[in-house]
Amino acid sequence: MNSCGKNIPKKVMFPSSPRAMVNLRNKIGQQILNESENIVDLCAQCGSTADGNWIGCDSCWRWYHCHCVGIDSLRLKALKYWQCPVCM
Ligand SMILES: [Zn+2]
Ligand SMILES: [Zn+2]
Repeated sequence: MNSCGKNIPKKVMFPSSPRAMVNLRNKIGQQILNESENIVDLCAQCGSTADGNWIGCDSCWRWYHCHCVGIDSLRLKALKYWQCPVCM
């Protein structure tokens, strides 16, 4: 499934009062926050949370084990900007 847009309900019923509107927005914001925490916890390549060197994509904020994307520790130190295989 595409990671963009899966949290957006197909049909949004807008509440009638401003207070209810704020509650709805907070709820949706919290859902998106929870989802993105899950993404950070998992290696996007192997799907595990195993220890090791991690590298974050500067384009989409996915996280990977260095060994899962073929980056050794020397290259990791030299890298200032890195794009994951999905973004490249
Ligand atoms: Zn991995
Ligand atoms: Zn990426």
